Amino acid sequence: MIFPHNLARVILFLLLVLIFSGCQILKNLDILRSNQKGVYHTVQKGQTLYFIAHAYDIEINRLKRINGIYNPSKLQIGTRLWIPGAWQVLNVDTSIDKQALTKKRKKNKKLNKKETPNKNIKAIKGFLIWPVKGQLTSRFGSRSGRHHDGIDIGARKGTRVVAAAGGKIMFSGWGPAGYGLMLIIKHKSNLTTVYAHNSYIHVHKNQIVKQGQRIASVGNTGRSTGPHLHFEVRNDSNPMNPLNYLPK
Ligand SMILES: [Zn+2]
Repeated sequence: MIFPHNLARVILFLLLVLIFSGCQILKNLDILRSNQKGVYHTVQKGQTLYFIAHAYDIEINRLKRINGIYNPSKLQIGTRLWIPGAWQVLNVDTSIDKQALTKKRKKNKKLNKKETPNKNIKAIKGFLIWPVKGQLTSRFGSRSGRHHDGIDIGARKGTRVVAAAGGKIMFSGWGPAGYGLMLIIKHKSNLTTVYAHNSYIHVHKNQIVKQGQRIASVGNTGRSTGPHLHFEVRNDSNPMNPLNYLPK
């Protein structure tokens, strides 16, 4: 009866080795996870890096760097992007991208026939007027480690929000995560302005608006800590400092 006894010992030893190594592997995985909180976002049809970055509130350049993306326009459907700091996978609204993309394509077609596109509109002081009367509560640029793509103007709920310049309403409604009720106006060249967190929107998509025309009412919708207007100026899709376009 010596043989079965030894066999039992060998099996027990092997089991212990397996359990031990298994624990080590789990432990390592756990360490990786706890050091790097985040989620994998799988790119869906129509989602651009720009809107994914927006939805997760992460700087686009950081997202590019982390995921080794050199050409965001060639982002493939099904690509898994590591989103550091995110708690859960978010739905990224694609409706805006599609509109913007088709418009851009149409525009590019037109431009190719005629002339070379005028890519950059210079920051001209006074090209825009202030979209709301209120207190500048947050500036453009780094804000507690994150990039703030616009400025915040604090004002009472219901205060009139006006078009900073004449143009066409490119988007009206609930924006990407955090933006709440928002508007995008397309102006001359490739300049757009974004108005977020509104309580009410007074215009509709494709409407032509004049500078100074009322377009919305200040609110607190989306990710907002009090009634204010989050205002962005974008050249193509690059966020610019609105203060460079606004009068003092
Ligand atoms: Zn803001």
